[in-house]
Amino acid sequence: MNREQMIEQITKRTDPWDMVVIGGGATGMGVAVDAASRGFDVLLLEAKDFGKGTSSRSTKLVHGGVRYLEQGNVSLVMEALKERGLLRQNAPHLVRDLAFIVPNYSWWEAPFYGIGLKLYDMLAGKYGFGKSRVLTQEETLERLPTLQTEGLRGGVIYYDGQFDDSRLLIHLAATAADHGAAVVNYIQVTSLLKDGEGYINGVIARDEESGALHTIAAHVVINATGIFTDNIRRMADPQIEAMVTPSQGIHLVFERSFLKGDTAIMVPHTSDGRVMFAIPWHDHTVVGTTDTQIDEPSYEPRPFEQEIQFILETAALYLSRPPKRSDVLSVYVGIRPLAKAGGPGKTSALSCDHTIHVDNSGLLTITGGKWTTYRHMAEDCVDHAITLGRLREEPCVTKTLKIHGYREHIHDLGNLWVYGSDADAIRGIASQEPELGKPLHPELPYVGAEVVWAARQEMARTVEDVLARRTRALFLNAQAASDMALQVARIMANELHYDEAWMQHQVSEFQTLAHQYSLR
Ligand SMILES: Cc1cc2nc3c(=O)[nH]c(=O)nc-3n(C[C@H](O)[C@H](O)[C@H](O)COP(=O)(O)OP(=O)(O)OC[C@H]3O[C@@H](n4cnc5c(N)ncnc54)[C@H](O)[C@@H]3O)c2cc1C
Repeated sequence: MNREQMIEQITKRTDPWDMVVIGGGATGMGVAVDAASRGFDVLLLEAKDFGKGTSSRSTKLVHGGVRYLEQGNVSLVMEALKERGLLRQNAPHLVRDLAFIVPNYSWWEAPFYGIGLKLYDMLAGKYGFGKSRVLTQEETLERLPTLQTEGLRGGVIYYDGQFDDSRLLIHLAATAADHGAAVVNYIQVTSLLKDGEGYINGVIARDEESGALHTIAAHVVINATGIFTDNIRRMADPQIEAMVTPSQGIHLVFERSFLKGDTAIMVPHTSDGRVMFAIPWHDHTVVGTTDTQIDEPSYEPRPFEQEIQFILETAALYLSRPPKRSDVLSVYVGIRPLAKAGGPGKTSALSCDHTIHVDNSGLLTITGGKWTTYRHMAEDCVDHAITLGRLREEPCVTKTLKIHGYREHIHDLGNLWVYGSDADAIRGIASQEPELGKPLHPELPYVGAEVVWAARQEMARTVEDVLARRTRALFLNAQAASDMALQVARIMANELHYDEAWMQHQVSEFQTLAHQYSLR
């Protein structure tokens, strides 16, 4: 992926694109992959970096959603369980099975959750990840040696999937590009174009790097902007009613030692009635999440003090060593784009299902849903786009489409396993220049060759792109990420031909941001 070449595709294009997708998160990128692999000419425009919105801030689970089962939303659970299976099949380098234990401290929990999780297994059918079962106290502690033992009776084990969200997103971008899509970051849609009848037939977009304005024609314009959905819809009609309600969730990241073993903890009912997870991720422990409705969406939402306290207190109930505020290595916040069930104007219920909506102007909006179901959402959206744009009928092929980096066995790739088949090329960079094979920080595994690769092949444009979304340094350890900023800036400046002033600016911007992810 090369940004200059992508921009050139925009400037050289004289015919309208079949589809222009606004938004480079899971939803938009899924649409770009689906449309490109069906053979359509598709352009995706992302205002910031790919995944800068919600799609880099999830709990990192590819799951059916035990919570939705409790709510009786069986169809959503079945769909998500099927998608979970397809994603593991198509991206085995990025999706792995993870065992979860629901610890039992009351007599009724083992039969109650035991039966519920059997149903979860059944709904997965042939896409199952492993059989759930009730564990004794000893078996539970064998798998979760750092679990709070007082009053522990046993647990129920079940299986779901885990992934690295922004890494999958970058590999989806590469998949779309491999199939001929143009995907561009740092290019913001500033207005929509309409024909004589008021029907949308393109966008105006501003290149955030050069300042250039591009007028882009399209048969269908797809709005996949997550929490910013209504902003784009208001470009078409300032009077429309909102269809998305933002709700934020936070995660606290700790050292791995808080959760020893390879098993996650799932708490189905916290004191406020929510689900909470403590999961091992990239050799750290991630605990989350909360759910707090907020007024306005933003790119860098801040955690509320009561959310931090709530997670620390709940974690202390389940972990033998209660984590303290000073143990938090990073805190990250994401905002769910909850679609109002029934579409705009209907405030009765907020849904985790996805919604597809066509405004009177012909703007096609897709929102809601979850990371796990991005592929199915994309299929649904492109089917609608074909009808709306009177495009030729082409069948969806993504059920079996291998995602960029596909590799079945990753055990020999060491710390580079998330790159799948790209890992060899990154090793190649390090072997040409051994200095680039050394870790950039003693507390994290990342090496200089990954920075070169990110700038050269993955359209990383800023130090933040590398430390937050190409690697996950910022999400794992904000202080370590801050310490790495200068080295990363130096490698990027060399690769992208930037000067000393650029480096200084980048380092200062990143360190200000990293400070917000730290509680120390
Ligand atoms: C706390 C939390 C935990 C979650 N955990 C999970 C989980 O474990 N598993 C799971 O399956 N799902 C999970 N989800 C849900 C999942 O993360 C979201 O459903 C998904 O990431 C939404 O993706 P999106 O593409 O719709 O939105 P986003 O990722 O926000 O993407 C929208 C993009 O549109 C861009 N944009 C906005 N305006 C413009 C413009 N004018 N021009 C160009 N681009 C623009 C933005 O910059 C942004 O990058 C979680 C969500 C939250 C909040």
